[in-house]
Amino acid sequence: MESPCLDLLNSDWHDHRGTGRTEDRLRHPAWVRDFVARWGFADAGRPGPDDVEALAALRSLVRRMVDRLQAGRDPSDRDLAALDRVLARAPEVIHLARTTDGYRLEPAPLRRDWDWVLARIARSFADLLAGGDPGRIKVCENPDCGWVFYDESKNRTRRWCEDVCGNLMKVRRFRERQKAAAGHRSVDGHEEHG
Ligand SMILES: [Zn+2]
Repeated sequence: MESPCLDLLNSDWHDHRGTGRTEDRLRHPAWVRDFVARWGFADAGRPGPDDVEALAALRSLVRRMVDRLQAGRDPSDRDLAALDRVLARAPEVIHLARTTDGYRLEPAPLRRDWDWVLARIARSFADLLAGGDPGRIKVCENPDCGWVFYDESKNRTRRWCEDVCGNLMKVRRFRERQKAAAGHRSVDGHEEHG
C-alpha cells in the first residue's frame, strides 16, 4: 500500500546491505520536490526550512508510533495527542456538489498550505490506524534496513520490505550457524588435545 506517511517515514533511508550508509532524503530538495508532486501537494508551494523541519518532526513522531506497534504495543497517549494536533492544523469545509444523478458532499481544506500538507500526511497514518489494521504496519526485520511497509499479505506474515532483505537475513543466519558450528568443532578439538 502506498501512503504519504510511509513515503515520509522511508525518507530516512538506511542501506539494507549493512554498509552503514544512511541518507536523510528530507535534506535533498529534489526528493522533497518529487514527494510533493507524487502526493498532489503542489498547491502548498515550495517548502521553507521551517516546513522541512516540521516534516522531520512529524516523521519522528510517526516513527515512534510505528516502533511501538512493531513491538506489539499501542502508541502512547501523548503521541496520539500530538498526531491529533497535526490533524487539527487543516480544518475542512463541506461543499455541496452536483453530480449527474444527484448531489454529493465533498470535504475540502480551507487552505492548501504546508499545514494542510502536514495534516494530510498525518491523516494518511491515522487512516492506517483507524481504517486499516495497525498490526499490518511493519518495520522490515532486517535491522540494517528499517523500511516501513503495510503488510497486505493474506496471513499478515510478511517480515521483509522486499525479498532481497529476506535473502540477506537468510544468508546471515546461515553464516552465523556455520561460524557457531566451526566454533564448536574447534572447542571439541581443543578438549581432545587438552
Ligand atoms: Zn528491508
